[in-house]
Amino acid sequence: MDAGRITKVSGPLVVADKMSDARMYDMVKVSDARLLGEIIELRGDRASIQVYEETGGLGPGEPVYSTGDPLSVELGPGLIEAIFDGVQRPLDVIREQVGDYITRGVEVNPLSREKRWHFVPRVKAGDSVVPGDILGTVQETTLVEHRIMVPPNRKGGTVKDIKEGEFTVEDVIAVIDTDDGRQELTMMHRWPIRKGRPYSEKLGPHVPMITGQRIIDTFFPVAKGGTACIPGPFGSGKTVTQHQLAKWADAEIVVYIGCGERGNEMTDVLMEFPELKDPKSGEPLMKRTVLIANTSNMPVAAREASIYTGITIAEYFRDMGYSVALMADSTSRWAEALREMSGRLEEMPGEEGYPAYLGSRLADFYERSGRTICLGSDGREGALTAVGAVSPPGGDLSEPVSQGTLRIVKVFWGLDASLAYRRHFPAINWLLSYSLYLEDVAEYFSETIGEQWNEMRREAMKLLQEEAELEEIVRLVGVDALSAKERLILETSKSLREDFLHQNAMHEIDTYSSLDKQFSMLDMILMFHHEALAVVEKGELDLDLEKMFALPVRERIARARYVPEEELKDLQTIKDDIKKQIASLTGEGGDEDA
Ligand code: ADP
Repeated sequence: MDAGRITKVSGPLVVADKMSDARMYDMVKVSDARLLGEIIELRGDRASIQVYEETGGLGPGEPVYSTGDPLSVELGPGLIEAIFDGVQRPLDVIREQVGDYITRGVEVNPLSREKRWHFVPRVKAGDSVVPGDILGTVQETTLVEHRIMVPPNRKGGTVKDIKEGEFTVEDVIAVIDTDDGRQELTMMHRWPIRKGRPYSEKLGPHVPMITGQRIIDTFFPVAKGGTACIPGPFGSGKTVTQHQLAKWADAEIVVYIGCGERGNEMTDVLMEFPELKDPKSGEPLMKRTVLIANTSNMPVAAREASIYTGITIAEYFRDMGYSVALMADSTSRWAEALREMSGRLEEMPGEEGYPAYLGSRLADFYERSGRTICLGSDGREGALTAVGAVSPPGGDLSEPVSQGTLRIVKVFWGLDASLAYRRHFPAINWLLSYSLYLEDVAEYFSETIGEQWNEMRREAMKLLQEEAELEEIVRLVGVDALSAKERLILETSKSLREDFLHQNAMHEIDTYSSLDKQFSMLDMILMFHHEALAVVEKGELDLDLEKMFALPVRERIARARYVPEEELKDLQTIKDDIKKQIASLTGEGGDEDA
């Protein structure tokens, strides 16, 4: 193929002509230094190329070689535990070879060509297979069984030969007779990052992804295969919340895409993530994680590509039949890269300089999430849940990236700097946040936890909303203006906030609550409310509310979060105490120590 010629260099953008053989999104090698680039605009034979490496020193007249392939990732054993840059270069390998700064034109394979993996077949010669069928497995880490499938872009047919033993990702492990002739398959295949991987069928968002975080599961659940967004003003607990999700969400695989602005932000992620422990196995969380990291010393274009690289890898594990949690932190940094490239292309700027297609690009990304029936004849189910963090400047959600994201995602966990300042964690504002999956998952909750669940959630949320209104009144005219019932509402809401919504990620037990525990905790707070309300509404006695609020059982309610999962039945005794102690207030003698 003839080389094109550079006509212009503008930062990460290179324009070349004589590129008539190339197609949109083709990968190219720029200059004889062979810098990696991708065609992002094509007009006649003139191509605009975003270059994933430093372009300093390039000039007009230098050649551009088209590879004829779209920018793709390698999918196969070796993904888990890896740390890649935005175009899937393995950072550790590069660091070993060339030091901390990625020098130009280094060609490193994303997946090791030397490493041997033990492949165990699941099919035998003579079996017929279709794309998506699992040919065999590799125990990639102690926590992940990597399922080797017939790639979606290859043909099915009759298995002619299937191997067992130690192989590299380039060795042939299966030979298939197709109606187009013989086809050899390896454990690795390539997939273009900007093209969603196919599946058989998309399923509805009817199953919640349980996170063990009470405010999330109970009030603002995200569905498996759903989308959520979490804005993170600095210090509001964005990182801790994402770590909690990575550790505790009922997903087998975690894909974390870090787009840091300042170098040290990403270094934090690179340092912290490998330290995290998988609570269920006690092993490092990395043993079921793929990390994609863009540091500030990497070219801006690689950041633009990183979210597609990440979601393609996530889709690949979904296709194996896993539940995958993908986190992108932060999509604002990604959007800034998009804006910079758009500016260089001299496109007509939209709001705040972002290109007009910002919204559709965000949608393209989030729409690749979903709970699906995977390709293949076994009908296995996979899920890809996408959580994007946004970091709006000054916490102002009216800016384009936040707005564009909120139009697409179905859950909004609004982190609130003032809650964090009061050390209420997780600092998710319960009045601003929402989940549009509540209806979808209602049946799941009532079937697995109890029919009362949805009603309890509604009641608790109503109390919290009433609290906000009552506080306004108190601010204006003082607490004396409130009726006994209103004071009880304030007291119950306080209990909801402090004993239920507040959850300490650093506490060994409080860090995770099963749905059963969440249900019991909510149940007892509301039970106290109902019992107390009955007394208040009778209005017969000279009720000392303070005395009721100070009943010893209140302390037990407050400490319920520290009750281990194995001892949940103890919570029943708290409910018995609630009844007894409130009854003692109204009974003759009023023995409050009962
Ligand atoms: P951000 O990433 O938004 O800047 P962090 O996630 O680092 O903020 O949180 C800042 C601090 O807030 C943490 O170091 C921790 O002390 C506290 N924090 C945040 N979330 C929680 C939580 N769920 N439980 C306990 N402490 C928390």
